[in-house]
Amino acid sequence: MPVAKFQIKRKCQVCGEEFMAKTIESWYCSSRCSGIAWKRRKDEEKRQERLDAVVRDIPKSKELITVPEAYALFGISKETLYRLIRKGAVTSVNAGQRQTRVSKEELMKLYPLRPKATEKPKAVKKLYSLEPNDCYTIGEISKKYKVNDSTVYGHIRKYSIPTRQIGNYVYVPKKEIDNLYKGAK
Ligand SMILES: [Zn+2]
Repeated sequence: MPVAKFQIKRKCQVCGEEFMAKTIESWYCSSRCSGIAWKRRKDEEKRQERLDAVVRDIPKSKELITVPEAYALFGISKETLYRLIRKGAVTSVNAGQRQTRVSKEELMKLYPLRPKATEKPKAVKKLYSLEPNDCYTIGEISKKYKVNDSTVYGHIRKYSIPTRQIGNYVYVPKKEIDNLYKGAK
């Protein structure tokens, strides 16, 4: 297999160290850091699944819900919830130690439901400016990021980045290219 020409300095998203990324999908400096990142993603998925399970178990007709149920439904922390209760922003019932119940309906008016972990985030329609001032030419990209033209074209296709041809030049939105190569998020 040919060695990738792609080389760009990036910050590891786990330890923060700078490293030379060898492929466009390299976000971590080492297999150790990518392992940590993978574990974090898995833990987060499991956490979301547990919350979804709590949500599923809340009877539809239940009007007064517990603090953990409120967290699972709306993602609001215990602290926030108790602050709302103190301010009188939501009706609560105290049925004894650790037995606080709050009005689900009132919370519904204040907070959107926590997005389900199983739902894919909706694709946001991106708006691109294809004005030459907001674009690089292919030549500028390969110069700036030290990748050859055909690699740039490959990435443009792979990541469905829009282009615009004017005369002999192909223009590509700077923002998209910078995001892609710098990993600025
Ligand atoms: Zn690292």
